[in-house]
Amino acid sequence: MAVRFVIVGGGPAGNSAATHAARLGAEVTLIERDVIGGAAHLWDCIPSKAMIATGGAMSFARRSELFGLQDETPPALDTAALKARLADIEGHLHDSVVQLLESQSVRMINGVGRLKGPHEVVVETQDGIEELEADAVLLSTGSRPRIPDWCEPDGQRVLTTRQAYPPPEIPEHLVVIGSGVTGVEFVHMFSSFGSKVTLIVSRQQVLPTKDPEVAAALEDDFLRRGVVLFKGARAVGIQNDDDGIVVDCDDGRCASGSHALLAIGAVPNSEGLGLEAAGVEVSESGHVPINHHCQSNVGHIYAAGDLSGKLPLSSVGAMQGRKIAEHVMGLHTRDHRHLDYDKAASAIFTEPEIADVGLAEADAFAMGRKIRVTKVPFAASAKALINSDPRGFVKILSDPATGVVLGGSIVGRHAAELISVIALAVTAGLKVGDIVDSLLVHPTLSEALADAAE
Ligand SMILES: Cc1cc2nc3c(=O)[nH]c(=O)nc-3n(C[C@H](O)[C@H](O)[C@H](O)COP(=O)(O)OP(=O)(O)OC[C@H]3O[C@@H](n4cnc5c(N)ncnc54)[C@H](O)[C@@H]3O)c2cc1C
Repeated sequence: MAVRFVIVGGGPAGNSAATHAARLGAEVTLIERDVIGGAAHLWDCIPSKAMIATGGAMSFARRSELFGLQDETPPALDTAALKARLADIEGHLHDSVVQLLESQSVRMINGVGRLKGPHEVVVETQDGIEELEADAVLLSTGSRPRIPDWCEPDGQRVLTTRQAYPPPEIPEHLVVIGSGVTGVEFVHMFSSFGSKVTLIVSRQQVLPTKDPEVAAALEDDFLRRGVVLFKGARAVGIQNDDDGIVVDCDDGRCASGSHALLAIGAVPNSEGLGLEAAGVEVSESGHVPINHHCQSNVGHIYAAGDLSGKLPLSSVGAMQGRKIAEHVMGLHTRDHRHLDYDKAASAIFTEPEIADVGLAEADAFAMGRKIRVTKVPFAASAKALINSDPRGFVKILSDPATGVVLGGSIVGRHAAELISVIALAVTAGLKVGDIVDSLLVHPTLSEALADAAE
């Protein structure tokens, strides 16, 4: 009899597990309460990057004279057309994911799922309640924006990230609370649309967990664009009236604007999942702790994606889903490589774009580990000059004894695409010489990778 695999939550983690497990022969049921594709398609990765692309097109139009074009009036934003574009992209992605799941005979149920016991899952649908027996269960219910008790988003002037695609009106002056990846992407997005932006930065650097040199490059760009940085300040309250908002900070400063946007992290969707009924442990933060096979403390119940408390990235959730499918089908003994979260590439879609992978210079320094660091600025790249954008650099970290690539950071145009070369090198244990010896296309930005690997 086929393995009965029930998945609760149809975002990147759930979808990936479903397709892979079905391909490997499992009988898969995927329960999704909202839309297949998950928050990743509806609220997070996709609409944010689509809005950033629109902002990028506007910035490009503003810089058109750099390309030898006449400086005509730049285009104005059409929010209705933008909204339609976001819906269109989400619709296309949804259809292609559903087609893929259907092609693998995954049963999809639109409803709210929860555990009733270790091997029973209950689904509440519009038509009633269905009970499913499962040999293995995956919980991949994702997360939602964190809303502090001092703030009530109204979707008009005080927004969560989910209320910003696009907001009812483009803010004249947006105060962004939170300077992690999400916060800085929204700063970039709205300043490209022409909004004035103030950013509340709780530490002394934006992107507090990133390489200081990388964060400094972004801060320089923000300051050049007139973004006001409130460093070392924590928001503790928001006054919201018909004329605008004022964000109160713990150091006594106040940031006034027309709108405020909250970007202070996420909380996992673990309530109402029946975890106690199945004996599944949950952490104080609400995540389901997992081992290196993504198993919870109950061996046949897995957790993945944002619920698992590992790196909150779609790419990581999808890879966890693939590994879980292999484990559920008993394939982990053969040729199975554990997921190494330290080797996950990540990117920040600002201008300049930022991407990194593997060991960071500051971490190597903190560990007292000897490394070789080589860095090349894009100012020396022919393609960067052709693009009229010579900002940024490529930095590669390698083992001085063996030449093995340990990590790297890229700041500059297309950094999120270019990092894949360093990511491949880090995952496959390639050496700097392997990158140097690659015969690359000229003129391209990727030539800077080979130069940095010299
Ligand atoms: C603004 C923003 C931008 C981001 N951009 C990127 C990016 O560019 N790249 C990247 O890699 N990551 C990005 N992320 C992170 C990424 O969106 C998440 O890591 C990813 O969505 C997590 O995937 P998931 O499968 O765990 O959950 P989700 O995508 O959240 O999907 C979970 C699904 O479970 C469903 N669900 C919940 N409870 C139940 C239930 N009881 N029954 C049935 N269904 C249920 C939900 O409806 C949802 O559809 C971004 C995040 C934010 C906030």
